[in-house]
Amino acid sequence: MNDIQTNLKKIKDSIPIDVTLVAVSKTKPVSDLMTAYNTGQRIFGENKIQEMAEKWDMLPKDISWHMIGHVQTNKVKYMAPFVDLIHAVDSFKLLKEIDKQAKKNNRVINCLLQIKIAEEESKFGLNEQEAINLLDNEDIKKLTNVHIEGLMGMATFTTNPQQIKDEFNKIMSFFKSLQPKYPQIKTLSIGMSGDYELAIECGSTMVRIGSSIFGARNYE
Ligand SMILES: *Cc1c(COP(=O)(O)O)cnc(C)c1O
Repeated sequence: MNDIQTNLKKIKDSIPIDVTLVAVSKTKPVSDLMTAYNTGQRIFGENKIQEMAEKWDMLPKDISWHMIGHVQTNKVKYMAPFVDLIHAVDSFKLLKEIDKQAKKNNRVINCLLQIKIAEEESKFGLNEQEAINLLDNEDIKKLTNVHIEGLMGMATFTTNPQQIKDEFNKIMSFFKSLQPKYPQIKTLSIGMSGDYELAIECGSTMVRIGSSIFGARNYE
């Protein structure tokens, strides 16, 4: 077995079976994705639409593609034919465009609402009230081709595990508080290479792991 296969196997063995593993393959060549595919991995996460579309074109069609990065409204059309889950939805305008493009492709596209949990000022994501307002928006019922199935969050980039834990616990409580009223909210996407064990302790149902599988990324 090579490194990718060894890493993947180790991670799969260490996470509970009901936690979904998204292999984050951004910047990595399709040969690396194929190595993971041949070990049985079928869910891949990318953060750039063009890169994801190119990989989708080249790779087996039973792969489930997750868009984990920020999405610009004008690019939704390029992934609408195939994307399975969009993790970082943070506006009604974006949801409307996803719905429109999904309809054109005769599909329903699954989405997560990105919630701001990090201490650092981030441009993206909703606070809890904004997320509730979005879920309660009357016009959302007209969006028949999007399905909001949960929440996504990213903890502060810090070495302090207590802070990360506090942030994960905060999104977990919010997630739990939504479920009685919005039973479709089932997925909690938290946890990356550095903090996925903590995230799972805090109730993650989906982890997004890149460098611990594929090695460090090389940005040019
Ligand atoms: C890159 C990325 C990941 C994976 O990060 P690693 O630390 O390499 O595991 C997870 N989530 C998002 C949103 C990312 O952009």
